[in-house]
Amino acid sequence: MKKIELYWQILIAFVLAILFGIFFKNQVHYVAWMGVVFIKALKMIIIPLIFASMISGVSNIGDAKNLGRLGAKTVAYYLGSSVLALLTGLILVNLIKPGVGADLGFKESITGVGVVNQSFGDTLLTIIPDNIVKAMVENNMLGIIFFGILFGFFIIKVDKVYKDSLTNIFNGLFEVIMKFTMFIIKFTPLGIFGIVANQVASQSNLGEVVARLGMYIGVVLLGLVVHSMISLPLILKFIGKVHPLKQLRAMRIPLFTAFTTSSSNAALPFTMEALEDNSGVSKTIVRFMLPIGTTVNMNGTALYELVAAIFIAQAYGIDLTLGQQAIVLVTTLMASIGAAGIPMAGLVMITIILSAIGLPMEGIGLILSVDRILDMFRTAVNVWSDSCGAVVVAHSEGETLKV
Ligand code: ASP
Repeated sequence: MKKIELYWQILIAFVLAILFGIFFKNQVHYVAWMGVVFIKALKMIIIPLIFASMISGVSNIGDAKNLGRLGAKTVAYYLGSSVLALLTGLILVNLIKPGVGADLGFKESITGVGVVNQSFGDTLLTIIPDNIVKAMVENNMLGIIFFGILFGFFIIKVDKVYKDSLTNIFNGLFEVIMKFTMFIIKFTPLGIFGIVANQVASQSNLGEVVARLGMYIGVVLLGLVVHSMISLPLILKFIGKVHPLKQLRAMRIPLFTAFTTSSSNAALPFTMEALEDNSGVSKTIVRFMLPIGTTVNMNGTALYELVAAIFIAQAYGIDLTLGQQAIVLVTTLMASIGAAGIPMAGLVMITIILSAIGLPMEGIGLILSVDRILDMFRTAVNVWSDSCGAVVVAHSEGETLKV
């Protein structure tokens, strides 16, 4: 019998999981564990993956000049695409005004979300870990990336004997982790079945919530669609000279994983694999750009946070001036950089934006109930933008791509 392609297996699992979640609500614990195991396996490889990937990526770049050029292009793409996403959100939320006249009686407790009081300065400081092992234990991605970039950079600087053997070791380590990833990927349909069935079963009165916050959900989704289906494809076509639909097809498994897990970190191994194998981006660019992109480049999250903050202001009847909106935009950009690639991270960061412009924290209660759904979409957009960045930079470096 012909083997069903992995993507179809995942889609079938997705549909079956929705049906299971609806019809076997009380039996869902029999399958939910599969999702838990799957996420645990992905979490298990994420730190070694980022660590090995950064060091291998940087040391393969070869010399400091190339590193500087690639670094500058990476930063330019990440900043440019984030600002584009933010402007899209800003225009839509001002045109449609989803919060004006919204029902303020709808408040939920925000306990459990964990209000973060970290300022942007604090975030910057965590980039330099005082202990690299602690950074790994605490999932401090920026710290691990920073250490990895320096480690890789100094590998380039040592004598050839050491340089060659260390480069080999980290390349080897990375290859092993990718084999490991390939093994976990085989179980994706089962993992996604567990996750989705559980989510569907634990969803309560979704209809009512959607009706209340419909306009807000609509603006976030419209913004995400415009950014991912119009803006990014235009960048792909005109700057990256690649076919947007082919790139979308190449990325379908990572995007689906991002959507169902709501975590760009969980999707990272899939994204790297797909970019190398399906899009034809070189190992060096993938290993250098993707760990950074997954952590700092969050177009979907940025757009969502901006719309949410302005929606909350509108709902409280606060008219933000252009200057205040500019502050929201800059703060949101930083909050999206600081947000971790895990579920609901973007929601937590909204507290920072709200406090920056002096909006009531309870405003979060307004949007809490629909965060889970929006998280799926914004995470997929985050991953999509990371992948677009890699092909655009690869093209500018003269690489021949498969898309
Ligand atoms: N869940 C998102 C991600 O992993 C972050 C967020 O909550 O916006 O990319």
